Amino acid sequence: MQLVFASNNSNKISEIQLLLPKTIKILSLSDIGCFDDIEESATTIEGNAILKANYITNKYGLNCFADDSGLLVDYLGGLPGVHSARYAGEQRSDDDNITKLLTALKGQTQRSAHFKTVICLNLNRTQHLFTGIIDGAITDKKMGGNGFGYDPVFKPNGYEITFGEMDKLEKTTISNRGIATKKLIDCLGN
Ligand code: IMP
Repeated sequence: MQLVFASNNSNKISEIQLLLPKTIKILSLSDIGCFDDIEESATTIEGNAILKANYITNKYGLNCFADDSGLLVDYLGGLPGVHSARYAGEQRSDDDNITKLLTALKGQTQRSAHFKTVICLNLNRTQHLFTGIIDGAITDKKMGGNGFGYDPVFKPNGYEITFGEMDKLEKTTISNRGIATKKLIDCLGN
């Protein structure tokens, strides 16, 4: 089975592909010749996942799924949340986002945070939403060079290392995206 993943983020693609059975092959946006900058203008993570999946289904008539993720920091009232990609500005820089986050939390002891992924699957004219959430804390400095985004500053509860210090399989086995992907796989298997 081939299924479009409405993303060109190679990190996300490889994390998801790691969990999918070999019988499901992911096609990225570039694989289907889509080079559009798909708008992510919704006010929720769910809403953006739906926007991205619907864009592809409406334009190409294809079954597809999309993922949207965000980091919710309790001390910041749930920010950056749906604004995670552009937290430090339109340049969408991981380094700038992390610097802004660490500055906002400087000296704070309350550092609890949650990573959330919503996957929206449009399959045969039916829409499904799958959510994955992992609880953790923001470190006071970057640790590890693996992964992407906020991985070097997110330490999941029960672990002494950040996502940025884990290898891809270890991260994906427990991560927000991994949890949502397992629900997607269950749905595709039924
Ligand atoms: P989006 O889902 O691509 O819109 O991601 C929103 C923001 O969260 C971006 O800054 C990403 O780099 C970041 N992000 C998404 N998924 C992850 C992840 O698995 N680990 C760390 N950061 C992530």
